[in-house]
Amino acid sequence: MRFFDTFINRYTLSIEIELVTALHIGVGNQSISPLDSDNAIMRMPDGNAVIPGASLKGVFRSNLEAILRMSGLHVCDSTNSTCGSSSRDSSNEKLYKDIEQSCEVCSLFGSQSISSHIYISDAIRRGEPGESFTSTRDGVMIRRDTENAAGGRKYDFEVVNPGTVFAGEILLENVDDYQVGYVLMILDLVNQGFIRLGGKKSAGLGRVNMSFSIQKIDKKSILKESGAIELSEQEIANLKLAARNHIAEVIV
Ligand SMILES: [Zn+2]
Repeated sequence: MRFFDTFINRYTLSIEIELVTALHIGVGNQSISPLDSDNAIMRMPDGNAVIPGASLKGVFRSNLEAILRMSGLHVCDSTNSTCGSSSRDSSNEKLYKDIEQSCEVCSLFGSQSISSHIYISDAIRRGEPGESFTSTRDGVMIRRDTENAAGGRKYDFEVVNPGTVFAGEILLENVDDYQVGYVLMILDLVNQGFIRLGGKKSAGLGRVNMSFSIQKIDKKSILKESGAIELSEQEIANLKLAARNHIAEVIV
């Protein structure tokens, strides 16, 4: 666990997300009518498609929670997190202690009172906004209460077409190797198809490939190599190994 008062390291992952199947990330219609669909995709003001960073961060966070719970590690309930919450009016010493005792998910992703060590940018579609990159699909309305099709009522929803590529960035600051390893483990699960993005997953949507390169800056690279260095395959494998070893050590 590291704090922010000293610069220790920064990892920058440049991510390319290529859609294997169509993607639907809706604008989140707030209507209370169960028959209104959130049928339009998220777009930038210029009309280009976007996968919001907050949505990606939610995917990484919830899947890390699942992996750590599955491994037998204590993880707080993110809808009712108490990690670090007693620290608001406390001394610095108590604050540091509280942060150190917070769960592994909050330590990396932050909570109401702990800063996040990970930042995920919006991933924006590569290409010109004017190009055609969406299609319309038919859906059958499902009633939330009975989980049945509501009298076979049909609706349309918009998807981003397979083959579309989005680009974004993940930043990790002042982290341990195993924490970078956690993010890489989740990227592997995405690429193996276990984790998908967006809505309508039961209709087969949201399968993606995420390719990435990682640059690291730390004291050594600043003093000796004058800037960021790109990590090799071996160094990337070592970070994943650090995550697996960390889980094995903690669950003893
Ligand atoms: Zn927590």
